[in-house]
Amino acid sequence: MRVTLVGGGVIALLTAVECALGGHRVTVVDQGPIPYRRATSFDQHRIIRALHPADPPATAAGLRSHHRWLELEELLAARFYERVGALTVLPPAEADAGTLLLTGAGGHARSLTAGALADRYPHLRLGDALGAVLEDEAGVLLADRVLAACVAWLRWQPGVDLIEYCPAVAVDGDRARVRLADGRVLDADGVLVAVGPWSRSLLPERVAKSLTLHRQSLLYCRVPKAQAEAWAATPAVPALGTRHGAWLIPPVAGTALKLSSAAVCRDADDLTDHATPEERRQQLAAEFGDLLPGFSPAWVRDSRDCYYLSYAETGGPLVVALGGTGHAYAACGGTSFKFAPLIARTLADRILGRAPEATGLTALDTAPLDATP
Ligand SMILES: Cc1cc2nc3c(=O)[nH]c(=O)nc-3n(C[C@H](O)[C@H](O)[C@H](O)COP(=O)(O)OP(=O)(O)OC[C@H]3O[C@@H](n4cnc5c(N)ncnc54)[C@H](O)[C@@H]3O)c2cc1C
Repeated sequence: MRVTLVGGGVIALLTAVECALGGHRVTVVDQGPIPYRRATSFDQHRIIRALHPADPPATAAGLRSHHRWLELEELLAARFYERVGALTVLPPAEADAGTLLLTGAGGHARSLTAGALADRYPHLRLGDALGAVLEDEAGVLLADRVLAACVAWLRWQPGVDLIEYCPAVAVDGDRARVRLADGRVLDADGVLVAVGPWSRSLLPERVAKSLTLHRQSLLYCRVPKAQAEAWAATPAVPALGTRHGAWLIPPVAGTALKLSSAAVCRDADDLTDHATPEERRQQLAAEFGDLLPGFSPAWVRDSRDCYYLSYAETGGPLVVALGGTGHAYAACGGTSFKFAPLIARTLADRILGRAPEATGLTALDTAPLDATP
């Protein structure tokens, strides 16, 4: 079969890998270079964790995804998974329940008490009344290296074509036809649209209206030399247990320490610039001043704002049927990187007309939102 994948982020690129592995002819088209710095997927790192508290199917999916990422490192002959573990800070009873959930699903995890946290991580100031789950099948995906590895592999595959700097302007799912800004028309047997935060400009208005655009600020820091050793042994921390939803990614493999918080994630009308407003930088610096002993704004080397879309009804991802074998990954819901190998496989199934493999993720396993004209 011939498939056209619109978008060159992690979702489309891994779907391209799936399709190419099946021997299909693949065309990937992006409005910019592939990969593109403005894409949501393009960053130093993303957290991968299996634990989704009180959500056994998503936790099992997280473990499966972990194994698939390891396989992808072999397939793509690249190293992009720093398996430093993940630490989720929670009230003690919830931490124990999380540990049980993970180990019951076949993962390796242990609960840490407030005392153990203080001993292990003196460079983190966590609440006295909090515990944590430390999971092993987790860590940091070096996101920009993932994209580069996919592109390098795809370029060597027969029957794969990458079209750069050429936005798609119209998609006809029924005819599996994509029209490009330069007038070219790509005809195929299956089409996927995975254009990240740009979905609203390419998908039917009814779908666009159901999507919420979010803008989130990030600080990139250099840690003081005296703390370098401690940070080198720090797992990814998807939740520091604060009211504001602070999280961090440690400085692995030469990357920066990255700090952010749900408090600096806000709704946005349009996708515009990526500069972080000064008040957001200060807000994050103040929040982390309380969490990281010795932290000072002098640690901050850079900052950036990123965008993502969510389905307004659930706050999560959204798959849309465009007619025929045309589908769209219309919204990523802000947490799709870690699950991308599973998402890619099920999307490949849909556009190739196969029964989609179950992922355990509700948004992917339920019938897609029907946007057939
Ligand atoms: C601040 C932040 C932190 C996050 N942290 C995590 C995390 O720790 N763990 C996790 O699992 N997930 C995380 N995510 C979510 C994750 O990054 C996204 O789910 C994922 O990167 C989305 O990938 P995508 O391929 O759907 O979109 P994108 O990466 O945005 O790719 C879309 C591509 O489509 C192209 N495009 C757009 N319009 C057109 C057009 N008309 N024609 C052709 N091409 C077009 C763009 O140029 C772009 O290259 C985070 C997101 C944000 C914003």
